[in-house]
Amino acid sequence: MQSVSATIPFVDLLAQHQPLQDQIEQAIRDVMQRGDYVLGQALREFEQAFAAVCRSHHGIGVACGTDAIALGLQACGIGKGDEVILPANTFIATLIGVLRSGATPVLVDCEAKTALIDLAAAEKAITPKTRAIVPVHLYGQMVSPSLLLNLAHTYDLMIFEDAAQAHLAEREGYRAGSIGVAAAFSFYPAKNLGALGDGGMVITHDESVAQKLRSLRNYGAPRKYFHTDQGTNSRLDTIQAAVLNVKLPYLAGWNRDRVYIADQYNTLLKPLHAHGILPIQNQCGKGHAYHLYVIRVVTENRDGLPVCALDREALQAQFAQQAIQTGIHYPLPCHLQPAFQELGYRAGDFPIAETLCQEILSLPMYPGLSDLQIHRIVDVLEASLIVQSALKISA
Ligand SMILES: *Cc1c(COP(=O)(O)O)cnc(C)c1O
Repeated sequence: MQSVSATIPFVDLLAQHQPLQDQIEQAIRDVMQRGDYVLGQALREFEQAFAAVCRSHHGIGVACGTDAIALGLQACGIGKGDEVILPANTFIATLIGVLRSGATPVLVDCEAKTALIDLAAAEKAITPKTRAIVPVHLYGQMVSPSLLLNLAHTYDLMIFEDAAQAHLAEREGYRAGSIGVAAAFSFYPAKNLGALGDGGMVITHDESVAQKLRSLRNYGAPRKYFHTDQGTNSRLDTIQAAVLNVKLPYLAGWNRDRVYIADQYNTLLKPLHAHGILPIQNQCGKGHAYHLYVIRVVTENRDGLPVCALDREALQAQFAQQAIQTGIHYPLPCHLQPAFQELGYRAGDFPIAETLCQEILSLPMYPGLSDLQIHRIVDVLEASLIVQSALKISA
């Protein structure tokens, strides 16, 4: 029998929280002591602290990232009759958020190398009804701020960033969330900064947008029992904010760990480029927040790229057999999801997004992933490719 090595998980939240356990428990006890569970002191502290590290002015905590997009767009005055441009290859919450704002989503394709929204395609999709663009800083890599600002300026568009995967990411001197009028973050447990449950935030430079959001998340009431908006109940719990206050000072260090891990992967995977294994390209250097480390397993001969001997599913099975957890972010683009057929898109509409969905594989990525583990992951990848190539040759 082969000796079974310990499982390498896809993320390890226990390892992240264990050293902070006492601090977190104390923070929760403090909230219980004060009893201000809803819109309490820890929430106000976290809103200010998080907006400040993002180099924005106001933070408004909401129940989750999806609500941050929906309510954030609404607070920016986006709604019925407005068109909003977003990429087809994102987590479904981006699309759900846009739809819930009342606006009409207009999907566009992405770039093959970075998997980020194709801004040339976005420009072509602009109509007189286009009011906003929602760039998604996918996998932790920011869409170019200068190109976004150019586009927004030329066509008088609002930029509303989906920064749910890009806490503290940086590019061209901008922090994620500070490029446009407002931005949405998620504190889902597995994000770069995660709560012990759901959470989200909108950050904005604009005082009136912030005020509108404080009303919208609180039944549309700027003051108690007086309703100026048809709002909802969507607040970041004070207890979650207290936990996030404990975790926030570690975020920059955790992100540095992620960049270090990605550097290791990038170096070790270089010899495999010739075998059809291509990491998603990093165009923003150390500012990448590396929420995910994603490779492409190239399976069709496109752009003159080498083709991999194994397909993505076979490779993922090899990893699973060696107790290495991987993920696919995401296996089906938004426009092909059964729930959104009414938007009228069809297979073939966004060929790059569709191909990437077949090729991408996310490798384990979390602060604390060791050099030894990284080497084992790459060794398994290498061995799978060599065995498969040898089989093909001998066949
Ligand atoms: C996680 C995520 C969201 C939504 O956040 P929730 O807190 O889960 O609602 C939105 N957009 C992207 C790109 C995400 O990764």
